[in-house]
Order: sequence, then structure tokens, then C-alpha cells
Amino acid sequence: MDKISIIIPCLNEQEAIPVYYRAMVKVMDQMRGIAFELLFVDDGSNDGTLEILRNISTMDRRCRYLSFSRNFGKEAAIYAGLSNVSGNLIVVMDVDLQDPPELILQMYQIMHREDVDCVAARRSDRKGEPGIRSLLSRGFYRCINKIAHTQIVSGARDFRMMNRQMADAVLSLSEYNRFSKGIFQWVGFRTKWLEYPNAERCAGETKWSLRKLTGYAVEGIVGMTTEPLRWSLKAGMLLCAAGTVMAVVSGIDFMTGNNRMMGLLLILCVILLVGGLQLISMGIIGEYLSKTYLEVKNRPVFIIKESSDSVCGKVCRHSKEKTA
Ligand code: UDP
Ligand code: MG
Repeated sequence: MDKISIIIPCLNEQEAIPVYYRAMVKVMDQMRGIAFELLFVDDGSNDGTLEILRNISTMDRRCRYLSFSRNFGKEAAIYAGLSNVSGNLIVVMDVDLQDPPELILQMYQIMHREDVDCVAARRSDRKGEPGIRSLLSRGFYRCINKIAHTQIVSGARDFRMMNRQMADAVLSLSEYNRFSKGIFQWVGFRTKWLEYPNAERCAGETKWSLRKLTGYAVEGIVGMTTEPLRWSLKAGMLLCAAGTVMAVVSGIDFMTGNNRMMGLLLILCVILLVGGLQLISMGIIGEYLSKTYLEVKNRPVFIIKESSDSVCGKVCRHSKEKTA
């Protein structure tokens, strides 16, 4: 018998969880004969999320939860979920119904009918999303697809159903700086894309501020490609070449006695330009260095403070330590 494990990251989602649970009960009723496991990952919420998860897990044995000691981010929640589920089919989805639960049935049918390892969802439009966010998102995906080898499909969501083999492959990438959309692509496997129109959040608010999204974008680029490091080198070489040409021209200018090129403005421009480029280059190197530093420290991706499985007060502290 198939067992579908669903991983649901939650950060301050007290309004959305009950709505999501009701929608999922309908889907599970429709898909009789298949075992379900709903693993909610409380990513350090400070509202009533944990209390609701405790109640749901005592009420319905199919529901389990993990609760982090603080907010580690959605990527860490997905990783924690993957390391703690036992199904042969694994789904990752948001709790706010922006990932429609009805698609799970379609995904399951495709997994059975077609020879694929993963069925992933992608939005066909961005209706209802703030204009500036759409613009920045589109720009980011265009940019990352230009510079990284791993391509990310436009409108791709984390929402997907994958088989155990692919989930294990994703788990084998135990890096600290996680960019799941890139990791899902990087591991390969046959993926079928399922399109659906954008849905609005059922309750609560988005947890992604512009600042958080910018961090996510930087994480994505630094995590997926080292190309920007090469930009500094190229810019440096270009400037050196320009400098050499300028020196030659100034030399000729000086020798011919014209002396028109030595304007203060010109010198200032060169200083500012070179200084700026040097700082940008150092910033890019710093970005990579800081990520490398975090990887080298080898800290756990998440820390679990409480879970529905820790019946005798067992507290799992490390990502590698399973609660199940
Ligand atoms: N989320 C999380 N940790 C975070 C941010 C978000 O677990 O630090 C969860 C959130 O509860 C939701 C999902 O990730 O289930 C997607 O978040 P959200 O809906 O705020 O993102 P958006 O759909 O606006 O991109
Ligand atoms: Mg959402």
C-alpha cells in the first residue's frame, strides 16, 4: 500500500492550520486505500500554532508535528520534514492553501500513470501578488537561470510529490545554506510540471518581507553558482586594461606637451569607479566566504525542541537524530 507523507512548514499560522486541515481531510477521504502522514513543522512560531498542532495530533493519528527551538526558515523546515517522514511518496506544501490540496490526487495519479519521479507544481500566473514582488521575482529567476547551470522553471513552487529515491537524494545534500528550489533541480530525476492558477492565501499574512526575499535571492545565487566570483576577476581585468590605455594616452599627452588630460574631475571619476568596483568585488567574495564559513562550522540545519513523537520527554537536538 502507498503511503503519502506530507511536510507542511508553519510559521505563525494559527488561522490557516484549521482551514488547511479541513481541506486535507476532504482529500484524504477521497483517496481511500492510501495511508497518509501529515508532518507539520512549526518553525519557531510565537502565536498559537504549536497549541493547535498539539491538539490536531492528539485528535488525528495521521497528524504529527515537530517544533523548532526558534525560527530556522522554511528551507530548514523542509529538510527537517524530509528527515522525519516514512512514506514512499513525499509531498512538500505550504499551509496557506496557496498550494491547492486537490492537486495531490492529480499528482498521485500522474506518479502512477507516467514514468516520473516527481510531479511538481508551477503557477501559470501571479494574479493577486503585489506588482513589485512579481517584478523582482521574475528578475531574480531570469538572472539565476542566466548565470547558473541548474535551471529553475519559471513560477516553480516547492509544492511537489516525489518518490523516496528522490527525497533521499535531496536529503543527501546536507548543506547549511539551503535553497530548496535549486536543490530539487540539482538532484535531477524525471519531473513533470503541473500548472495551476495562482491562489490567494486562505488566512494570515505572508511571512516573506522584501528583506527576507532579498536574502533568499542572494542565498539562491550564492548556493547555485560561483559565477559572480568570476565577474570580479573580469571587471578587474577590464579596469587594468582601461588603466593601461589611459596611462599610455596620458604619457603621449604629456610628451607632446599638451597636458589636457590631467583634469581633477577625470582623476576623481577613476578613483570612485575603481574604489566602487573593488568594494563590490570584496562584497561578492565576502558573501561566498561567509557561506563557506557557516558550512565549515557544520552547525545543525535545525534544532527540534518538541515533537509529537517525544512522548517520554525526549528532545531531539540534531538534524541527523530522528524523532521517529
Ligand atoms: N514559512 C516557514 N518559515 C518561514 C517562513 C515561512 O515555515 O520562515 C512557511 C509558512 O508558514 C508557509 C510557507 O512557509 O506555510 C510559505 O510561506 P508564505 O505563505 O508566507 O510565503 P509566500 O507564499 O508568500 O511566498
Ligand atoms: Mg503563501
